[in-house]
Amino acid sequence: MLIIDCPWCGPRQETEFGYGGQAHVAYPEDPYALDDAAWAEYLFYRDNPKGIYAERWVHSVGCRRWFNALRDTHTYDIMAVYRMGEPRPDVTSPHGPRDSELVQSTVVPGTPNGASDQAPGAAPDAATSTERTGK
Ligand SMILES: [Zn+2]
Repeated sequence: MLIIDCPWCGPRQETEFGYGGQAHVAYPEDPYALDDAAWAEYLFYRDNPKGIYAERWVHSVGCRRWFNALRDTHTYDIMAVYRMGEPRPDVTSPHGPRDSELVQSTVVPGTPNGASDQAPGAAPDAATSTERTGK
């Protein structure tokens, strides 16, 4: 079971929370300017990364407040939680603190043990890029 650290209440079991999907999906500035494809993109299409994902959660049986969390979709580790309106913490490590070491709005940049996923001699941009290469 996940332990989620509510920014207001502290660590609680995941059964107290509701999932709200991807965070930071901005409402279109001019929705009337969108064609159907762009509107469908806004409504239905979300990122699906293997790695750190910013998502919304609500503490539905606690304080009933919404907040954002950065969760590693590969390990299920919640790297950081932060309140709505706060900037997204800069989490770059794919393997952050365990659930028992959850931190609020505090981020440990880089890999804690100094290990690197980067291949020796690889360019830093190539190792950290999430873009897909050509097909
Ligand atoms: Zn709460």
